[in-house]
Amino acid sequence: MNLLVATRNRHKLDEIRQIFSLPGLTLLAADDVEGLPEDVVEDAETFEGNALKKARELGVASGLWTLADDSGLEVEALHNAPGVYSARYAGEPCSYPANNAKLLRELQGVTDRRARFRCAIALRAPDGREWTVDGRCEGTITESARGNNGFGYDPLFVPTGFSQTFAELDAATKNSLSHRGNALRRAAVEWRGHLNDE
Ligand code: IMP
Repeated sequence: MNLLVATRNRHKLDEIRQIFSLPGLTLLAADDVEGLPEDVVEDAETFEGNALKKARELGVASGLWTLADDSGLEVEALHNAPGVYSARYAGEPCSYPANNAKLLRELQGVTDRRARFRCAIALRAPDGREWTVDGRCEGTITESARGNNGFGYDPLFVPTGFSQTFAELDAATKNSLSHRGNALRRAAVEWRGHLNDE
């Protein structure tokens, strides 16, 4: 069966394709399906709310089974900012270098650099049934950007138990630890039955 992945973010799509594979399931990208809304306004207060909103809007527009991700970074010393505003932390349009520069500025002189990535994944069936799972990855924020892999805040985030940033680790290692990896592995176990019934 086909499963639409409700994102236009190529990096997320690649990670979802690497992690979420079930027999008989073909993942379609939003860019590959005609007539879908260009953007979904992400105005919910939680990752789960935004993931459901994306799955709903693209699911209704396409009539397909739809999976959506909403994710972001929470920093302890910043009272969990940027959180759901991670993509537009330094303003619109989303700029990864500007977001990273702002985060380093905000943390200048701050010794508590604990942070976590969080991810909510939503699944919507064409008949309107919906499910969500979440995943997290704990770590710390570096003093400067390191590495060229991945995207977003990856050059600033060192997962617990490692000395390299996500941007210095290879994709398979990042996926084995990441918030998105943890959420998608749970999703594959919990939703296998729903997706197989089709
Ligand atoms: P979303 O499209 O609203 O879910 O935006 C997520 C934002 O959170 C991205 O633009 C990144 O800034 C950040 N983010 C989410 N997941 C990751 C990740 O795996 N690595 C680095 N940054 C991430």
